[in-house]
Amino acid sequence: MFDQIPDMAAKRAELSPNGLAFHDTSSARDWSFGQINDAANAVAAGLSGLGLSEGDRVAILCQNSAEFFITLFACQKTGIILCPLNWRQPAPELVETLQQVGVSILLADAGFQEVAAETAKGVNVPLLTIEDDLAAWIARGGPKLAAPIPSDRPWYLLFTSGTTGLPKSVIQTAGMAWANTINIGQAIDIASTDRSACFLPLFHTAGINLYTLPIFLSGGSSTIFPKFDLDAIRDLIASGQINQFFAVPAVYQALSLAPWIDELDWHGIRCGCGGAPLSEPLIRFFADRGVKVLNGMGMTETGPTVFLMDPAHAEQKIGSVGKPQILTQVRLSGVPDGEEGVGELHIKGPGVTPGYFGNPDATASTFTEDGWLRTGDVARRDKDGYYYIVDRIKDMYISGGENVYPAEVERVLHSHPAVLEAAVIGVPDDRWGEVGAAFILLRPERTLDAEDLRSWCRERMAGYKAPAYVRVVADFPRTAAGKIRKPDLVEAFCHD
Ligand code: ATP
Ligand code: MG
Repeated sequence: MFDQIPDMAAKRAELSPNGLAFHDTSSARDWSFGQINDAANAVAAGLSGLGLSEGDRVAILCQNSAEFFITLFACQKTGIILCPLNWRQPAPELVETLQQVGVSILLADAGFQEVAAETAKGVNVPLLTIEDDLAAWIARGGPKLAAPIPSDRPWYLLFTSGTTGLPKSVIQTAGMAWANTINIGQAIDIASTDRSACFLPLFHTAGINLYTLPIFLSGGSSTIFPKFDLDAIRDLIASGQINQFFAVPAVYQALSLAPWIDELDWHGIRCGCGGAPLSEPLIRFFADRGVKVLNGMGMTETGPTVFLMDPAHAEQKIGSVGKPQILTQVRLSGVPDGEEGVGELHIKGPGVTPGYFGNPDATASTFTEDGWLRTGDVARRDKDGYYYIVDRIKDMYISGGENVYPAEVERVLHSHPAVLEAAVIGVPDDRWGEVGAAFILLRPERTLDAEDLRSWCRERMAGYKAPAYVRVVADFPRTAAGKIRKPDLVEAFCHD
């Protein structure tokens, strides 16, 4: 779309040098745009001083902090590619990741010194610390860099959530971040007066791009928490310090169960959600309290947002993720453009990745010959052009010759008063080929009779869709983004 885009930190510092960019709760420090840009220039000088240059990779292992963003902007200035690591992984897994990506140094915060030392040793690269090395660079300063950035230059690498298998390393360019900012900005009217919270982990796309980076580029501010903290979010909302935030369904679920939820005044707070199915009872729970939780759909591969429900139609189109965003083209395979129907969702536009890092085979099999990204998700378009995510193709199973989308069964299970969360998988069956197995997390202080639940399903959907097995669980195996890992459920079921 654009050949070049501005150096983001430098441009923001030029436009609003003294405006508040970040409040970092760990250090209790405010950072203006000018300070962030100065620090990014300093870190760029520090990284260059180590002999690193365009295309080299630097890994970072840290909880959310202003220093993460400073390093991110330093990488943008130099062309060095940042590789944020998932701090929930143990050292041997991190070593495997770094072997795939091939990094020159590992930068870590003090909280992860042990695992960082083991990881750095495992891949034989120097370990630098945020508290000592990065702080010394920032104190020393560096020359002002402000050259425009080629928009297709890789900026950082993000791993997919690993919901369906091994996480894949997705190239993120500066152009993708720019497109995401325009998409989100148009969808929810982001402005310089916006104040958001950054608590989703920065090693996933939502942490960086929903909405922290778009708000930064628009001149607004974000309060950064080292990680998700329910009470801290309550305090932020109660004190009126934020006017919006984005979270995944697991966060809204945790909020809905908090004993203080009904004491909160949500007036003026805008809430976005995405990354996994958002159940109707949860949408209604918040709607009953005057909060519109806007459902969106995105992927690591799409930078991320593809859809975000517009506030004006959220109540008429419950369950929808809205319409494709302003810079995004969408098609449903097998469905003529503009018509109602169901098909695999394909995506094109400046927010889409050029591919998986170091994995041309995965890139080739993910894109069609005419350049559309195959999402692996099935979606439905209604007569008004609104979209609904049906399910992942990988999760569909076939029972007695009929296709079953587990998400449809889960929706019925979610409507049962005792069910807080449900996950359905297809399991082998001698008679039907496959049948459904439902894993259920109960609402507090509720019990469940499996036969009652099966009748509940049979009354509301075709018999072959009703799960043959029902298991109550204490929790689900989840990814760092709170998504249920169905391959782990399949394994658990088969080994029981
Ligand atoms: P992996 O690709 O490693 O299996 P993942 O697909 O979960 O993991 P992400 O890129 O974080 O990794 O997530 C994108 C996927 O999340 C989408 O392809 C879609 O399946 C799902 N998703 C995102 N938003 C929604 C939503 N609103 N409703 C249902 N599913 C969603
Ligand atoms: Mg995926």
